Amino acid sequence: MKKSSEEILSSLASQGFRMTRLRKAIIGVFTGNGLPMSAEELMDILRAGNTAFNRTTVYREIGFLKARGVINEIQFLHERVKRYELASLEHHHHLVCLRCKRVEDIVLENDLADQERSILDSKGFHVTNHMLEFHGICRGCNR
Ligand SMILES: [Zn+2]
Ligand SMILES: [Zn+2]
Repeated sequence: MKKSSEEILSSLASQGFRMTRLRKAIIGVFTGNGLPMSAEELMDILRAGNTAFNRTTVYREIGFLKARGVINEIQFLHERVKRYELASLEHHHHLVCLRCKRVEDIVLENDLADQERSILDSKGFHVTNHMLEFHGICRGCNR
């Protein structure tokens, strides 16, 4: 289940981590915006919200939140930059538009449960996770 800003903050506080203004702001951005964000996009949003920061601290915060399991890092195939999204989002995949680079979340009905079952049957391999991203042309670009 998607965690709220308050849940994440109180969980970090209970583990004894200091709650800086920047850390709160970054967690607020991640819980408010569901789509995978690059560090640059995160900084654009912080700037727009008049949050003061320096780049090094933002990168350090991203590393911290990643290490605490608050956010996941995503590396899309066609991109150099890394993106980040809340780790507590429902299991989903991404639709990546090759033209405008827009990313959309997609929750697949039944996901890959059948395929994973047949992998177990045929290979004796127990799948615990999978990665899958869809590339193509989005509705806006397809007009
Ligand atoms: Zn597009
Ligand atoms: Zn899946």
